Amino acid sequence: MHKKHRTSLEAKLCVMTIGLLFAVLLGVGHYAMGQQKAALLEQQRQAFEALARAVAVASEPVVSHNGASVGQRILDDLNDTALDIEYIVVSDETGKPLLARSQRSEHHPARAPLVQKARRIAGFVTGYEDVVNNVYRTTLPIRMASGRSGLVSVGFSLNRVNSAIEEMQTNILVVFAVAFLVGIVGALLLARSISRQLRKLIETARAVAHGDLSRTVSEDSGDEVGELSHAFNCMMSALRESQEKLIQRANTDSLTDLYNHRYFQERLTAELSRAARYKHVLSILMIDIDHFKNFNDWHGHPSGDKALRELAKIMKAEVRDMDVVARYGGEEFSVILPETDVEDAFAAGERLRLAVQRHCFYGKDQETVPLTISVGVGQYPLHSIEREGLIMAADMALYRAKSTGRNKTCRFEQQLRDNPAGDPYRVHVLLRATDIRTVEALASAIDAKHHFMTGHGKAVASHAAKLAEALGMPTEECDSVRLASLLRDIGQLALPDGILVKPEPLTPEDREIVSSHPTLGHAIVEKSPGMKSMLPGILHHHENYDGSGYPFGLAGEEIPLVARVIAVVDAYCSMTADRPHRAKLTPEAAMAELERCTGKQFDPEVVKAFVTILKAEDPNQLAA
Ligand code: GH3
Ligand code: MG
Ligand code: MG
Repeated sequence: MHKKHRTSLEAKLCVMTIGLLFAVLLGVGHYAMGQQKAALLEQQRQAFEALARAVAVASEPVVSHNGASVGQRILDDLNDTALDIEYIVVSDETGKPLLARSQRSEHHPARAPLVQKARRIAGFVTGYEDVVNNVYRTTLPIRMASGRSGLVSVGFSLNRVNSAIEEMQTNILVVFAVAFLVGIVGALLLARSISRQLRKLIETARAVAHGDLSRTVSEDSGDEVGELSHAFNCMMSALRESQEKLIQRANTDSLTDLYNHRYFQERLTAELSRAARYKHVLSILMIDIDHFKNFNDWHGHPSGDKALRELAKIMKAEVRDMDVVARYGGEEFSVILPETDVEDAFAAGERLRLAVQRHCFYGKDQETVPLTISVGVGQYPLHSIEREGLIMAADMALYRAKSTGRNKTCRFEQQLRDNPAGDPYRVHVLLRATDIRTVEALASAIDAKHHFMTGHGKAVASHAAKLAEALGMPTEECDSVRLASLLRDIGQLALPDGILVKPEPLTPEDREIVSSHPTLGHAIVEKSPGMKSMLPGILHHHENYDGSGYPFGLAGEEIPLVARVIAVVDAYCSMTADRPHRAKLTPEAAMAELERCTGKQFDPEVVKAFVTILKAEDPNQLAA
């Protein structure tokens, strides 16, 4: 359709131009012919004037009787004119020819008939003009020396005039042909130049249709196509402007004017690939306001929104121009720090945290309210080489900051260079596969963190599943008990490597780090939709029945049954396995220890059911 249209435009332009050219050429030709005709008429007029002069000469008395001198004189006179004299016949008054002369040789075979003809004609000369075979004849009265009157007939041809006409026709034809060729070439060039610009416009419009709004067309030609190109360029710049506005709006969070989550992800992808290309480091901060729900509940959402806006301003003011601050979620923020390692990022996190701590926020009734933030730091490529892994690493560091007191900045502890399997992204990918083999492989990776605990996870899972069944838990809950048993310590993957195998006693700080693993495990597994059912087991398996456990200090029935089951089986399997610092207990001794701690650390009902199972089985095979 497009093509047809374009061709027809070109053809139309050609036809129009050639038509115009023809009209012009016809006009010019017509004028030239007219001019030439006038010139010929003038020549003829001159010829007849010459003839008249000849007649005047002839009118003088002539000496010769036979008219020979008359003829010769007439011939001599006429030689000067543009006429070709074919013959001259002089006759007496009766018409009897006295002399017949031809301009050309009488002996020439081609001319002989002409002379004969002249003689024949002369016999009938009566004084009128006539034309025979392109030879014009004119007859004039003369007076001879004898006093007698006579007649002279002159035959002349218009051959020279005719050849002049032919020459003119040829010239006109050549001019026509050249002009026609020039016209065709000109028309083609003209059509081409117009259609070329149109084609450029079409090509640019197509590129625009495919999303390339950066295109413009040249506006060089001063004609309508140039105007069209100018209008097109104006349209494009308006489009670009509105697109930029739209993009900015699409990338910006309307409440805080910071970049939004979508842009953060896009930008992080781009910055990571840049860092990979130039072998640079890059860090991110994940930031969450502490107890912001309480702020909202007490001071209302409008005050909360105002606080969020102020926080955004503080953060923007505290980072470099090249850093990207985004609102990651409701009251969570994230910062990309290009070319920054974990230590500098930690310092930046602390700077932000302290700036927020110093700032005076206002709640309802202009009441001043302190607000604090917790910050998690992750570094590429130290903690993960994947975008999701890096976010998870910073997220887990943030969880640690939250679970160890808030108003803190924490780094992610597991470094890829120490343990390549510790990349949170890798764990995340593994968790997407919900088959038991993958989960078991993950459990082995967790066990490997305690170099002495190979197979521990599997043993706990197998006992816990049996115990759950014995307690009458529904089948699907038994399955989640098994899975949660395998992954209960998944949070340990995010702990510093040495801490779990330290020969010396843990410092209070170490203990704080270790006891954050249920929360970290919860943070890891929470991101995998297929694993949600094991979250209670992972989060609460270190709670004690009397409320002395962690992370929440829940007691009795507040602790999910899954977690109470795992706590008992985990303790039993640990006691019956070898440890570097102590020998393993016998199953009987371990059971006794369980019973000793019943009601304090463990749920009495669960311990009772477990001991029943253990006693029913061969104790030697039960030991892990
Ligand atoms: P934590 O220290 O554990 O982070 O406690 P928290 O209360 O801040 O955490 P939680 O995630 O439980 O609560 C987040 C709260 O943030 C919930 C909601 O009231 C508040 N919030 C989220 N988005 C907005 C928002 O756009 N405006 C306002 N005013 N509040 C928001
Ligand atoms: Mg939050
Ligand atoms: Mg919060």
